[in-house]
Amino acid sequence: MYMAKGAGKGRYQLFDAQMHDNMVGRSALKADLALAVEAGQLRLEYQPVADLRTGEVLGVEALVRWQHPTLGLLPPGEFIGLSEETGDIEAIGCWVLETAVRQLARWRATMEHCDSLWVAVNLSLYQLPNPHSLAAIKRILSDPAVQSENVVLEVTESALAADVDGGIASLNSLKVLGVRLAVDDFGTGFSSLSTLASLPVDILKIDRAFVSGHASGPRSVPVLDAILVLADKLSLAVIAEGIEEREQLDLLRRLGCSTGQGYFLARPAPAPVIEALMASGGLLDVTEPAGLKPL
Ligand code: C2E
Ligand code: CA
Ligand code: CA
Repeated sequence: MYMAKGAGKGRYQLFDAQMHDNMVGRSALKADLALAVEAGQLRLEYQPVADLRTGEVLGVEALVRWQHPTLGLLPPGEFIGLSEETGDIEAIGCWVLETAVRQLARWRATMEHCDSLWVAVNLSLYQLPNPHSLAAIKRILSDPAVQSENVVLEVTESALAADVDGGIASLNSLKVLGVRLAVDDFGTGFSSLSTLASLPVDILKIDRAFVSGHASGPRSVPVLDAILVLADKLSLAVIAEGIEEREQLDLLRRLGCSTGQGYFLARPAPAPVIEALMASGGLLDVTEPAGLKPL
């Protein structure tokens, strides 16, 4: 309508998606983002992380979505970067952490098969430089209802490599509270191995590019194998991400990777879906295909 009016009287203009994108624009989204937490527009989905041999759900990764009043449900890729620019990541990050750990506490208290369930929360290093934001994170993790050893904080390898505003020092101060630390998207962020050796990391999350073989073509399997050896030497746990196909699951198991997540096992889903999964035994289907040699 605005385009038609702008072109003069008595005109019409066909709608197209590009026009819509331009209209909404980043600045409008920024303004909306400032209100999203208070307006209760954020949602969490949880993706199960499972034992690749037994299918047992060991933990869940919390993934944020934004129920925008006019644009619908937006994935994090459309607003997390923006929120890091505006500073809204601090409020968003605290909301995600608090919601996820409360949910975990509720599941552990009220449901079977959840006694050792853990929750992983993605942390942006842009949340950490502000002392108020860091203090809020510490407050959430120090709540006696939260068993911090069942909380995993995931930081991307590229953020660690850049060490945004000395965020690594703050990470050390969070580690003291008993949480586990995971390097997300491992293998894609150019972090030096010396950084890895010196960080208090517990878990490597192997980026899905290696799992799907897209990262390094014919060499992706040896690279995957080498990452598993590296993790073993450093006594780090490993989670393979983005398992989309039966063959990828079988390969990971043959290479000795014991834990993973991906659409083949389970997609991210709202809390009630996870509840139903746990209530039915907390097992995903990883049955061996006929003819697979014993590991
Ligand atoms: P991530 O931490 O690497 O999360 C995994 C992403 O891969 C999720 O996308 C998930 O839905 C998707 N995924 C899971 N299994 C598969 C699979 O088998 N194949 C493929 N192709 N994708 C799979 P999502 O939810 O869109 O999140 C994208 C990124 O946004 C996350 O990547 C994470 O970096 C960031 N993010 C999500 N939630 C938060 C949050 O609360 N805080 C911060 N700072 N970042 C977040
Ligand atoms: Ca993650
Ligand atoms: Ca990842």
